[in-house]
Amino acid sequence: MATTAFALDEEQRRFCAQVREQAAERLLPLAHKDDPALGERVNRPLLEEMGRLGLLARLFPGAGRSAAALDLCLLRESLAQVSTEAETALALQGLGFYPVVQSGSEAQLARWLPEVASGRAVAAFALSEPGAGSDAAALALEATPDLGTGGAAGAARGWRLDGEKCWISNAPEADLYTVFARTGPEAGARGVTAFLVPADRPGLTGEPLDMISPHPIGRLRFDGVPVGREDVLGEVGGGFRVAMRTLDLFRPSVGAFAVGMAQAALDAAVAHAAAREAFGGPLRELQSVGHRLAEMATRTEAARLLVYAAAAAYDANGGTGEAGLHGPTGRAAMAKLFATEAAQYVVDSAVQLHGARALQRGHLLERLYREVRAPRVYEGASEVQLSIIARELYR
Ligand SMILES: Cc1cc2nc3c(=O)[nH]c(=O)nc-3n(C[C@H](O)[C@H](O)[C@H](O)COP(=O)(O)OP(=O)(O)OC[C@H]3O[C@@H](n4cnc5c(N)ncnc54)[C@H](O)[C@@H]3O)c2cc1C
Repeated sequence: MATTAFALDEEQRRFCAQVREQAAERLLPLAHKDDPALGERVNRPLLEEMGRLGLLARLFPGAGRSAAALDLCLLRESLAQVSTEAETALALQGLGFYPVVQSGSEAQLARWLPEVASGRAVAAFALSEPGAGSDAAALALEATPDLGTGGAAGAARGWRLDGEKCWISNAPEADLYTVFARTGPEAGARGVTAFLVPADRPGLTGEPLDMISPHPIGRLRFDGVPVGREDVLGEVGGGFRVAMRTLDLFRPSVGAFAVGMAQAALDAAVAHAAAREAFGGPLRELQSVGHRLAEMATRTEAARLLVYAAAAAYDANGGTGEAGLHGPTGRAAMAKLFATEAAQYVVDSAVQLHGARALQRGHLLERLYREVRAPRVYEGASEVQLSIIARELYR
């Protein structure tokens, strides 16, 4: 097949096929599948198998180096086509640890990178709070200088964290959290510092939340959790930038996750409409069914093109570069918005074309139907992406 600006090359297609094969043979058998009770727990055997297969290592090419956004998208789309559970486990490991790869010290990386890349340690990204979701800069987790005995304010040896984080994927079971807290009195994004907080710090507790998105999510409580200067990621006061750089890399890849789910739903609907007999022939011969399948295929392909264009734009200049609709920011917002909305349409349509069987617990589409909803809310709700696109239109 000819390679164009909008097609994957031979090697990329081979890589995707290999990931799908590994996922089907080695990961799917380990997935919790549809046991709702198990779905609330981190699946450590699955994560460790992804470590053995070298999939996690692809997320972390080395200190200070970002995974290529395109690589991340290829991985996420391919995994999502086979197992959303494996996909999400990989993505969360990346989201949770990328702030360390990007801004961590040599000591932090030496301690945690081998553990995280092998899947032996579970990472989580703790930004959101009950009062700070879309408006993340409103976060209130307080870092109070810890002066020790007889210390002066300038000589703080660290901080004590007090407050709460909410809707944190992998919490409360993760082994390490990248946590964003307010170290200074400045309002908004200024005065926020990022910390690497190991889960065994005294005063850190949490509980799972029962969500319809079937991966583990929880709440974290910080009650005087001690953190030192050696736990800071990047600069004191520079934590919001650490969070945003991570989200900039991951935003197009949320679109890739959505495209993978849409493709899985489309494949199932195409097969079902050919096999299911009604009114004297296969469903696909009903014109309205054929048109619906065509619409699903078109939206899935359009989403894929936007996602890979956004990933390529990110990789061309490391996430910086031209402003406006065709810069990395504008493209990432369009890709995330369109792909997550398209996937919702495609999965819902596939449910409709399958009829009752799709709603039976344990059916592929029943799971996708639950899974496809949350990405329209997290890492920037659709309305937030629209605001970004509108802003970029005038830059
Ligand atoms: C499954 C799942 C996993 C998550 N995992 C993590 C995680 O690992 N780490 C983490 O830190 N957080 C995580 N979150 C939290 C997520 O980041 C927040 O839910 C998200 O930022 C939205 O915040 P909110 O839910 O408080 O909604 P709000 O900010 O209250 O927004 C509610 C709605 O208001 C509208 N709205 C908000 N802002 C605007 C705007 N500017 N313009 C127009 N309309 C607007 C939108 O419709 C939006 O959906 C997760 C959430 C879910 C659902």
